[in-house]
Amino acid sequence: MKIGISACLLGHNVRYDGSNKRNEELLKLLERHEIIAVCPEISSGFPVPHEPLEIKGNKVIDPSGNDLSNKLHEGSLICLNKIKECDLLILKSKSPSCGHGFIYDGSFSGRLIEGEGIFTSMCLQNNLKIYSENDLEILKTILA
Ligand code: SF4
Repeated sequence: MKIGISACLLGHNVRYDGSNKRNEELLKLLERHEIIAVCPEISSGFPVPHEPLEIKGNKVIDPSGNDLSNKLHEGSLICLNKIKECDLLILKSKSPSCGHGFIYDGSFSGRLIEGEGIFTSMCLQNNLKIYSENDLEILKTILA
């Protein structure tokens, strides 16, 4: 299968703070599949490290309230074009870009609300199948 994945889950140090979210169990599952790594924040031109981002209402903001929506939208579009032929996507949970189902609420206080990251919303509009690193049990069945 052809699988699009958040680059931070593969161990790329692309998160806002320069870290990654490498997931060994997930990497094992992906061994026999074709992988396309994307990071909407890198494609948007954000440096590493950079200020954290959250979604508030329909805007992407940093802790100072700067509206970075257009910037993240552009990078997300670049990533969408790279992965739109994929059979499924595995995206990092809770991220303002890649989150699916739950994201932080825009107060930078660690509170989660129901919602989608900017890139995830685009992928959903394009009818792509989305999973996260929290769906390992389902992914074991699909990718076996
Ligand atoms: S934008 Fe997505 S791929 Fe990039 S660091 Fe955030 S969660 Fe990971």
